[in-house]
Amino acid sequence: MPQFHMTECIRKTKEKMPLSEAEIQAMIAGITDGTIPDYQTAAWLMAVCLNGLTDRETAALTAAMRDSGQVMHWDFPGGTVADKHSTGGVGDKTTLILAPIVAACGVYMPKMSGRGLGHTGGTIDKLESIPGLTTALDPAEFLSLVERVGCAVAMQTGNLAPADKKLYALRDVTETVNSIPLICASIMSKKLATGADHIILDVKVGSGAFMKHDADAAELARLMRAAAKASGKNCAAILTDMDIPLGRCIGNALEVREAIELLRGDLGSPLGRLCTVLAAELLKMAQTGSSEDCIKIAEEAVRSGRALQRFAQMIEGQHGDPRVTEDLSRLPQAKCSRVLCAEADGYISAMQSEEIGRACVLLGAGRLTKADVIDPGAGVVLAAEYGDAVRKGDPLLTMYAATEAQLDEAAQKLRAAVTISAEKPAEKPLIHRMFTD
Ligand code: URA
Repeated sequence: MPQFHMTECIRKTKEKMPLSEAEIQAMIAGITDGTIPDYQTAAWLMAVCLNGLTDRETAALTAAMRDSGQVMHWDFPGGTVADKHSTGGVGDKTTLILAPIVAACGVYMPKMSGRGLGHTGGTIDKLESIPGLTTALDPAEFLSLVERVGCAVAMQTGNLAPADKKLYALRDVTETVNSIPLICASIMSKKLATGADHIILDVKVGSGAFMKHDADAAELARLMRAAAKASGKNCAAILTDMDIPLGRCIGNALEVREAIELLRGDLGSPLGRLCTVLAAELLKMAQTGSSEDCIKIAEEAVRSGRALQRFAQMIEGQHGDPRVTEDLSRLPQAKCSRVLCAEADGYISAMQSEEIGRACVLLGAGRLTKADVIDPGAGVVLAAEYGDAVRKGDPLLTMYAATEAQLDEAAQKLRAAVTISAEKPAEKPLIHRMFTD
């Protein structure tokens, strides 16, 4: 390649001329080792935001960012490795349910997860609400737990896709987060670095999600699948609703409780059906059977109690108290609670997930500053769901927090987040679309 100049990359993207793979690799190497200054990187990011990238550029960017740090390779006896990514939402506890189901069906799931971000919760915070449990596992311990049990969930290490860390920090302060190729490269570089053979992407769409519209979510799903396939991975995507929260519980220990209830066999809810479909897609990619067979295999893993047993073993392997799976009262409980009731007769026609997520942060279930400590028992349990008929005085939800003042503050937000209308609203399916081979 002729000598690399970052100004040339900025000019090409500004003029909608494609960058070569070699240019993209040199640029990511320079961003990672700090030889390219932030002001040039920021200028290029803005050019991408305004002009986009071709599919080939996006795949090359994703691969270069993946290779900027450690790329994991698994070698488990007699099994393949699956992974899942959700683009983030409110009440999304699917990893807690999916990992033990998939493990109980003979597919390994070594999962790297993150903490909550803004109004959205994080799997690491949810799991750490289990007494004693740690997600800071050393690599040998993580590996041996996955070998024994089939699944483990650890905090993502700083060594995975370090280029994304630098780019994300710059995007955050230069108004360049909202670009589909950049979001694709950011998510998929980390996902591909974790080394799974089969990946399912749960792309959230709606008011509580990054992607507000189906068309954008579908484009993100298409690009992420193309980037995975360019790296030789199997990848399916599913577009799911995030206008309303996922499931009944929002908040860390409350979501663990809902996950355990579901793993005890209660798969009839939309959340239960989503988890079964996600598990079946992974099992299908791992060549366990047809879609219908894989749904039955996943359901049987739950019905037989094997999935719950794997969850208990995973908790124990991560130094937590596995007895929470038998006795939910061993999970942390908030000091104060209050029921919020309907102020009119009618139908629930909106339950704005973003506002409910923000109210849960005020209750103590998330962080307002980096230094905030999460209250594991805090959050909301919905008593009524979108579309339900309610009478004045019926319970809508229960709030949980450490103080009455937190309940007061969150109550105002929650009242504004729930709309009761005279007309029954149109149904809102949880699963919008699936992209599979
Ligand atoms: N999540 C990520 O990891 N990166 C993005 O750019 C957006 C969501």
